[in-house]
Amino acid sequence: MSQGRIPFVAGNWKMHKTVAEAEMFISGLLPRVSSADGVDVAICVPFTALGAMVDSTRGSRAQVFAQNMHQAPSGAFTGEVSAAMLTELDVHGVVLGHSERRELFGESDAALAEKVPAALEAGLIPILCVGETEAERDGGETEAKLRRQVETDLAEVPRERLAEVVIAYEPIWAIGTGKVATPEQAQEACAFVRSLVAGIDADAGAAIRIQYGGSVKPDNAAELLALEDVDGALVGGASLEPASFAAIVEAARA
Ligand code: PEP
Repeated sequence: MSQGRIPFVAGNWKMHKTVAEAEMFISGLLPRVSSADGVDVAICVPFTALGAMVDSTRGSRAQVFAQNMHQAPSGAFTGEVSAAMLTELDVHGVVLGHSERRELFGESDAALAEKVPAALEAGLIPILCVGETEAERDGGETEAKLRRQVETDLAEVPRERLAEVVIAYEPIWAIGTGKVATPEQAQEACAFVRSLVAGIDADAGAAIRIQYGGSVKPDNAAELLALEDVDGALVGGASLEPASFAAIVEAARA
């Protein structure tokens, strides 16, 4: 974590929590993070809980993000949601290109190249997820994969807005597996992602926030969040309980 970049801890609930369960969670979380000065905090919730969570977090330090959106402003896209539908609810941002969406729902880099600028244009903070599979890491293809994802997905972002994007480096083999990247692996990959952004625009490379994601828990968060090029965390499983998520937020203050 470097000076000048505000640490950002986001919890990705995936397909968890009804509205009633989300309300229970947020009433447990807000008192625990109310004094987490200097850390940006977000919950990334199912579409059905967005309105309720925006209402319940107004005036607090928690921001509310969606987990996906369509790139088009409107159209015949059954089951999809546009950027304007999110901003109308006062949603702050959106997770784009999570590996589950890429692997299970065919999310492509071509679509992401349209989604990232569409989110920014609408006033949403995009969290763009990138990362390699275990086979790609074992085959020495990690950097090639990250380069392809970062360069394609950010290709249409205006240079002056690049630093507003948040990138989550999430090695797919570490997501939901309990198999966390070593600090060396996380630092190396996040520094590489930063160098890719710097290759497009040097100032954006220095300013862009890069999260690590993949089995972040209260007991490993401090070590990961202290790394020079890690500016926060995208947290799955450990974001479902207020106490464990708040402990990770607390680790980002150190
Ligand atoms: C994620 O869903 O982005 C994630 C990193 O999950 P977990 O923390 O459970 O590995």
